[in-house]
Amino acid sequence: MKLIEVDAIIVGGGIIGSSAALTLARAGRQVALLERDFCGSHSSGVNYGGVRRQGRSLAQLPLSMRAHAIWGNLREWIGIDGEYARSGHLKLARSETDFDALKAYARRTQAFDLRLQLLERRELRQRFPWVGDIAVGASYCPEDGHANPRLVSPAFAQAARRSGAQVHEQCKVLEVGHDGHHFSVHTSSGQGFKAPWLLNCAGAWSAQLAERFGEPVPLTAAHPAMLVTEPLPLFMTASTGVEGGGIYARQVARGNCVLGGGRGFALTPTTARPGQAAVLDILHNATELYPALAGAQAIRTWSGTEGYLPDDEPVLGPSLHQPGLLHGFGFAGAGFQIGPAAGEALAQCILHGAPALSLAAFSINRFQPNHHKENLS
Ligand SMILES: Cc1cc2nc3c(=O)[nH]c(=O)nc-3n(C[C@H](O)[C@H](O)[C@H](O)COP(=O)(O)OP(=O)(O)OC[C@H]3O[C@@H](n4cnc5c(N)ncnc54)[C@H](O)[C@@H]3O)c2cc1C
Repeated sequence: MKLIEVDAIIVGGGIIGSSAALTLARAGRQVALLERDFCGSHSSGVNYGGVRRQGRSLAQLPLSMRAHAIWGNLREWIGIDGEYARSGHLKLARSETDFDALKAYARRTQAFDLRLQLLERRELRQRFPWVGDIAVGASYCPEDGHANPRLVSPAFAQAARRSGAQVHEQCKVLEVGHDGHHFSVHTSSGQGFKAPWLLNCAGAWSAQLAERFGEPVPLTAAHPAMLVTEPLPLFMTASTGVEGGGIYARQVARGNCVLGGGRGFALTPTTARPGQAAVLDILHNATELYPALAGAQAIRTWSGTEGYLPDDEPVLGPSLHQPGLLHGFGFAGAGFQIGPAAGEALAQCILHGAPALSLAAFSINRFQPNHHKENLS
């Protein structure tokens, strides 16, 4: 079979792979973006839509800040605004211990420009009167926000296509080889591709490709549970979360409230649903925190399939075994905000030989059998 020759083959058309494709195509590289289903049809398109830096690990904040700048110019990047709103992100504490944890986070992240505001109970009530009495305090990040993932993630792939990338949907990568110089890839559509670079951006399904090149990773799949209510009068002026997790909520301009929390379960290796217990938990927690939601009808529930590594940090950057192979997966329920910068960083490895921001903390090396922590220093 004649193989289509390109500079880079990207496996997976989620926000990570599509963002990498966009950066490479804009720089004039020949790219083939190969997606098993439709671009943005998995985690990247079905997530909650939280675009927040608050709460991220210190290791992620430099990339997250870069992503924040990209989000600020979203229309320039992908041609649509994606319903992106810098509504602010309000992280609530339900106990003094949780509030202390928010204060400690604000201290630890002072070097970053998050501009966190710590709100004691009285100020919280004054500024956000729609928050229930159960909250004793909060941390507010004024420039975090939310967006519509169903619009944003496919738009990254469309923008890559407009910039010259080949985008192949319903094109599952079946086999990958390497002849010492090039990767060769065979797909379910019958097409074959050849390139010196291969990007493993296959989301929760990335472990197989890593293992194929001698890098087994303990990647597991999990399924955050989500629901959306009927349209309600507008009241929720910020996207919200809770210290310790459990529930997050935002309201879109049409009035619907999008709520998430807890876990669903897999129906098949590629599909998932929330389950009744998770939905009831979300509704119960939500009405305690946001009393205006009492009696609201949930009109749809859903879940997705997301990849998690044991330390909840992604694997991002070059393979240590196979020259030309780059990994970008395992974003642990938080890859939507950081995705545009993560994809860009992978593209920079090809364009400039190294990413603009260090990816050392996300090296796949940390899961290899003979790895010692000092290797990262
Ligand atoms: C319900 C839910 C809520 C979330 N909420 C948030 C949030 O509020 N904020 C936030 O920042 N993050 C959130 N996340 C996480 C975020 O959505 C993900 O971290 C991010 O989308 C991961 O992007 P990705 O490109 O790595 O993966 P994906 O979007 O899963 O893309 C990977 C793609 O690879 C394709 N693929 C797999 N195998 C192959 C193959 N062999 N050949 C070709 N293609 C293949 C898949 O079909 C898939 O489309 C949430 C996730 C879920 C599921």
